[in-house]
Amino acid sequence: MGLEEKVPEGILLTSVEKMVGWARASSIWPCTFGLACCAIEMMAAGASRFDLARFGAEVFRASPRQSDLMIVAGRVSVKMAPVLRQVYDQMSEPKWVIAMGACASCAGVFNNYAIVPGVDRIVPVDVYVPGCPPRPEMLIQGIMKLQEKIRTGSLKPVVVDMPDRPRAAGA
Ligand code: SF4
Repeated sequence: MGLEEKVPEGILLTSVEKMVGWARASSIWPCTFGLACCAIEMMAAGASRFDLARFGAEVFRASPRQSDLMIVAGRVSVKMAPVLRQVYDQMSEPKWVIAMGACASCAGVFNNYAIVPGVDRIVPVDVYVPGCPPRPEMLIQGIMKLQEKIRTGSLKPVVVDMPDRPRAAGA
């Protein structure tokens, strides 16, 4: 006879790790940290049209001490890198990072001495969202991938798939 048959109806059994993972994944608090044009798409993700609130991650905090997710939205200049690292260090543990857009992931078209060639040189990145700019839906997909990582305790960085784009007529 299994333990499940002993517990009354309506009671679920799980492990503490799974419950904590579920709670963390369902209540992500992103840090407000927009750096360039990608930040506009990040803001749109929180607006009613895309409604990031559906995934429990819309409470953007103005203080890193109340945040557990840094969305690096836009290019990171060499001058800004120490500030970004300081904000990351002030965030609560456990914490996660999403590199949003080509610039944050690999400097994008800005291949010059003033731009950090990938924010993973400054902070560890959990999810890369490609595109210039990625649409709000792609950021939301990135957040969903992060939630999956948190739930499963995976440490491997993931890359969000680029959507299939409609071909131009005759292409
Ligand atoms: S990836 Fe494109 S949209 Fe995003 S910050 Fe860079 S140039 Fe701007």
